[in-house]
Amino acid sequence: MPEGDTVYRATARLHRALAGKSILRSDFRVPSLSTVDLAGYAVAEVVPRGKHLLMHLQPPATADPEFNQPPLTLHSHLLMEGRWDLYGQGERFRRPAHTARVVLSFDGVTAVGFDIAQVKLVPTAEETQLVGHLGPDLLGTDWDAPLAIENFRAHPHRGIGEALLDQRLMAGVGNVYRCEVLFLTRLHPLTPIGQVVNLGKVIEMSQRLLEVNKDRPRRVTTGVARTREPYWVYRRAGSPCLRCGEKILLLKIAAEDSGLERDCYFCPSCQPARNT
Ligand SMILES: [Zn+2]
Repeated sequence: MPEGDTVYRATARLHRALAGKSILRSDFRVPSLSTVDLAGYAVAEVVPRGKHLLMHLQPPATADPEFNQPPLTLHSHLLMEGRWDLYGQGERFRRPAHTARVVLSFDGVTAVGFDIAQVKLVPTAEETQLVGHLGPDLLGTDWDAPLAIENFRAHPHRGIGEALLDQRLMAGVGNVYRCEVLFLTRLHPLTPIGQVVNLGKVIEMSQRLLEVNKDRPRRVTTGVARTREPYWVYRRAGSPCLRCGEKILLLKIAAEDSGLERDCYFCPSCQPARNT
């Protein structure tokens, strides 16, 4: 699953290349959208919403306003493998063509969405049906820390490690940041939210890590001076803790809603379980 900062960067790149440009040809290789033709629509902006990428499209102008098409939102969720690439005129795809799901051709540039698991097209007015379930966006213009804290507090019995990945509470944290934030706030992943006294700090740390990394090509949570070891605990099971030397452990935590298990890395010495 990409982290919020990955989607933010992908979005910024698309926005720079496409904003203001009109679509010359569109080719949707997903059954539900195979007959859609977006020729004439112009890209107003490309914005991130948590891990979702939203392309806002303005309809072509018509002589008679009565025949105006509504503004549309092209929504894509990159999930594990998905990505958007940009190609110049005549340039060959750098990925297998059969994995292309959406091909949007503009004057001089083509945007291709590869392996995108979810792609939807809705009137922009109905966009909230797609992303309205998301909690406050850590990198959004409407970021709301008190609301995020309130959302977590409403689930006192859930483990903080499990809840941090729940995009309905707060949008943008993936597995890397989940592990790193817990290390930096010295919390055992299974600590029930009701026992997390420094919840505000957890939220603040999540926001800060995404913010400092959002324009960096390489993600680092240990500080720029430590780029050889970019993470404190993520994917470091069995290696010594960079702070105390204890062996980093791995815990599988199932998501409450999907049951999907994700690896969670932590230092048993820096992040001790509290028996209360
Ligand atoms: Zn440690």
